[in-house]
Amino acid sequence: MKVVRGIADLHLGTAEIGLVPTMGALHAGHRSLFRAARAENDVVVASLFVNPVQFDEPSDLAAYPRDEMRDAAIAEEEGVDVLFAPGPDELYPPDFATWIDVEAVGAEGAARPGHFRGVATVCVKLFNIVRPRRAYFGQKDAQQSAVLRRVVRDLNLPLEIRVMPTVRDADGLALSSRNVRLTADEREQALGLPRALQAAAGADDPVAAARAGLNGLHPEYIEVVDLGVATVLAAAVRVGTTRLIDNVLLEGDLS
Ligand code: AMP
Repeated sequence: MKVVRGIADLHLGTAEIGLVPTMGALHAGHRSLFRAARAENDVVVASLFVNPVQFDEPSDLAAYPRDEMRDAAIAEEEGVDVLFAPGPDELYPPDFATWIDVEAVGAEGAARPGHFRGVATVCVKLFNIVRPRRAYFGQKDAQQSAVLRRVVRDLNLPLEIRVMPTVRDADGLALSSRNVRLTADEREQALGLPRALQAAAGADDPVAAARAGLNGLHPEYIEVVDLGVATVLAAAVRVGTTRLIDNVLLEGDLS
């Protein structure tokens, strides 16, 4: 696996490329995206970049876990060909001034002002730099993948957005780079989120059922979101200082 920091050093040629954008602190959720990309493309590029402009809370950005050596070993194990790990100035020169301003999808966009603009901007930059045929995202961030599908459609970008199922720990908690911040007690509380969503998925009023099942956790939002190709029941909760999101499919197919 090649680790590349400069855009000019990528030299990817004309092969079919699968791109997996990540912010690092890699776990089995990221591994499943690498495997899907490996199975469907000639060349797999993973990006490793903690994108400052998508963080709406400076403390969240400062505390984001970073361990490039470990991440590189995981990417290599999963057959990634090129790890693109630019420094912040490589993607955002000091006079950077152009943004992809996409209308937010659902309450997640409203809850995190500027977040999807930051995600869409960095992804369009990565799409232009790497020129993938396919880009891989996780269902855990279902609203994000819907935003990116909209950007790809609206701007006629020549790639396909592929969405892979959420990978969970054995107890049901969706894997997330932020889970390492949970204390043992908080982790136990956090389980209320997947359990409530799962139990509510078949209910007549899934939002009310999920709210009732949250077991003392206070939701930032719980909502049924129409993502075009699928409808999901999505929620965000705060456990201690950690914000967690999750969703379950109600109808359709996100892939
Ligand atoms: P991140 O590094 O958190 O920006 O995530 C990079 C990609 O991995 C995004 O497309 C996420 O949706 C995806 N991802 C994160 N957690 C999971 C998970 N538990 N299962 C599947 N995909 C995930």
